[in-house]
Amino acid sequence: MGRIGLFWLAVMGMTLCSGLANAESKKQEVVKNITLLHAGTLLAVPGKSPLTEQTIVIEGTRIKEIHPGYVSGEDLMIPYAKTIDLKDKFVMPGLMDMHVHLTLMKGKDLKADEMALEGVINAKKTLMAGFTTVRDIGAMGNTIFKLRNKIRDGHIEGPRIFASGQIVAVGSIDGGLECNGPESCRRTTRELISNGADWIKIYSSCSGSKFCSHEDGAPMFFDDEIKAVVAVANKYGIKVAAHSHPRDSALFALKYGVSSIEHGSFMNDKALKAMKKQGVYYVPTVSVHDMLEDLKRDGKVKGRVLAHNDTFLKIHPETIKNAYKRGVKMATGSDAGVVPHGKNYRELERFVDLGITPMDALKMATVNGADLLDKIQELGTVKAGKYADIIALSADPLKDIHNIEKVIFVMKGGKIYKKE
Ligand SMILES: [Zn+2]
Repeated sequence: MGRIGLFWLAVMGMTLCSGLANAESKKQEVVKNITLLHAGTLLAVPGKSPLTEQTIVIEGTRIKEIHPGYVSGEDLMIPYAKTIDLKDKFVMPGLMDMHVHLTLMKGKDLKADEMALEGVINAKKTLMAGFTTVRDIGAMGNTIFKLRNKIRDGHIEGPRIFASGQIVAVGSIDGGLECNGPESCRRTTRELISNGADWIKIYSSCSGSKFCSHEDGAPMFFDDEIKAVVAVANKYGIKVAAHSHPRDSALFALKYGVSSIEHGSFMNDKALKAMKKQGVYYVPTVSVHDMLEDLKRDGKVKGRVLAHNDTFLKIHPETIKNAYKRGVKMATGSDAGVVPHGKNYRELERFVDLGITPMDALKMATVNGADLLDKIQELGTVKAGKYADIIALSADPLKDIHNIEKVIFVMKGGKIYKKE
């Protein structure tokens, strides 16, 4: 072998060595990436009884296994595993809010750059409140898709986002995108999907703040328009959420294959029966009543507006109770953006005030959210194979739902974002 041959052999040897060293350091990286959570109380599957003294093993972004009792790294032959003591805590899956507007703030007309900044702030507030997944169901422009991607890629702290982008509406009512005749509805829906929409949201009635949203208000779309929207969405495997207040707009939307009714303030028995039969979700957003009650108490609304708001305060809770009694599938959605961000737990508290059991409220805020998103294989419970989206509370929310505010630990995708 000549000089040159020897030289190349040496280079190859060096490459091989550095390759081995790389493999070694990679192995170490993986080795470091195992966490054990010692959970005093574990509500692994909301809807089923909690377990006590459990060890959750997290590897990378996912839950690897769950052991009864407190198991150590040595016991599992992984002495390098990091252990987190949550022995006096209530541990459960990360909460899910199915109706937020992260880039919007009530009463403020934000420019695109302001929406981006507010979105970053609101995303963090939401995550710190223990909400590891949200459905953002109404934004302006494409900012929300960019925020979603930056969070997904780990550059910004926030919940997993499933986003609809701008709302599809008749004309440009309430800042929606135009759906005026089937051609335009098809074009608008396609555009949203190509811009990155995970969901499509339609305004099947006008905004709750407008008089046309009253009980007898008319549905907004014609049959061929709503059909066109749903057909395009279905083509791409995307679900449609319908904003609806009046009695008939819900019934109308339900004829065309929507997957959730948002608000549904004045839905009648017929609509609830149809929802039950079709497995359509109800996301009531009753947290908005916080705002309506404040306005009333502070004397900020009078006359016709006050009377309009009062019909919501009176009838909407009855609709929710009726839906619950009938076994309509329900998920929690706060409408944060209309109400403050980071107080997404208000929806659970309001649900319990209406007679929903704390256990059912917790299920609606986890398991049901995952089901609505078609992500039950990945999210919604603490189970081997799923994403490690886990929170801990300093007190038991099954005893008092207000304990849902006492979030002292937040993990999303195996990464710890909060630990008090
Ligand atoms: Zn909303």
